Amino acid sequence: MIFLFAVLSVLLCSTHSYPIEGLFEKNNDYSGNTVEDDDFSVSTLIEKANVNVGKNLSEPLVMFGDIAVPTGFQNADPCTARGCLWRKSSDGNVYVPFRISNQFSQRERETIIQGLESFAQSTCIRFTPQRRQRDFVDIQSLSGCFSFVGRRGGGQVVSLSRQGCVFRSIIQHELLHALGFNHEQTRSDRDEHVRILLENVIPGMEHNFRKIETINLGTPYDYNSVMHYGRFAFSRNREPTIVPIPDPNVAIGRAEQMSPTDILRVNRLYQCNSTAFRRDRQPAQRNQFLQLMQMGDPGNVNVYL
Ligand SMILES: [Zn+2]
Repeated sequence: MIFLFAVLSVLLCSTHSYPIEGLFEKNNDYSGNTVEDDDFSVSTLIEKANVNVGKNLSEPLVMFGDIAVPTGFQNADPCTARGCLWRKSSDGNVYVPFRISNQFSQRERETIIQGLESFAQSTCIRFTPQRRQRDFVDIQSLSGCFSFVGRRGGGQVVSLSRQGCVFRSIIQHELLHALGFNHEQTRSDRDEHVRILLENVIPGMEHNFRKIETINLGTPYDYNSVMHYGRFAFSRNREPTIVPIPDPNVAIGRAEQMSPTDILRVNRLYQCNSTAFRRDRQPAQRNQFLQLMQMGDPGNVNVYL
C-alpha cells in the first residue's frame, strides 16, 4: 500500500541565532563522547529498534532514520500546498486526536499516554482520544520507531515498537515529527554547528544526514533537542558521524525529553498563546520557555504553511 505523505514545509523565512549559554544546566559528567556513552541516546535507541524496518512491505518506507515517506518525496513539498499543521481550535488549543493500538500492554499504554500528556504541560497541543475526527495519529507497534512529518490527512501511523521504542524521549521525538518537525542535525544552518563525517557513515545511510531547508522559527540550533541525533548515529566504524563545532567535546543528542527550545518551537509553529497552557506543572520548564520567548521576536517569523 502506498502511503500519501506530508512533509514539513521547508520554506525558511528568517533565521536568527540567539546566545543561550548559561540558560540550560550543563552536565559534563556524561558527555556522550564515546560509543558506549551514546548507547541510550534517542538516535541509538531508534537505530537499534529499526533494524527490521523496511522488511515488511505492508509498512511505510522509512528514510532519515525514522521518518516514513512515500516514493517521489524528493520533488514534492506537499505541506506548503496542503498544509500539514494540525488545526487550531477556537479556544487556542490544537487538539490532535489519537488512537493507541491494543497491541500494547497496560504499562506501555500508560507510558505512551504520559508522553502524549507531556505536550499539554508546556504547549497548546492537546492529544485527545479519537472519536469521529477524520485526521488522527494512529499509534501502533510496527517494526521500529517512525512517523510521518506533519499531518497527512486521515489516520497516520506513528510506530512505537514494543521492542525498543516505548520510552518518553522516543515518544516525544516521534510525535514532534507528526507535529511537523525534522531532525535537528538536518536544519538549514547545521553546518555552522556540526560537522558531518560521511566517511564514517554506513554506506547507504548517507541520506540521514541530508540538509533540509527547514523553518527554524527564530530558534537557536540546539544540541540538546530531543530531535538531535547522537555523535555515533549510523556509524559504520564506531567513529563519530556528527561532531559539534567549534567545540568538538560538547555533548550532543543526549536529551531524555523535549528541551526548552523544542517546546519553544512547538509554541511558535502552532502560535500557542502562553496563557493557554496549564500553569500548575513544571514551572521551571515554563519559565525557561518564557525566557526564550523574550529573547526572540516572534513577530519577525513568517511561516508559510
Ligand atoms: Zn526521528
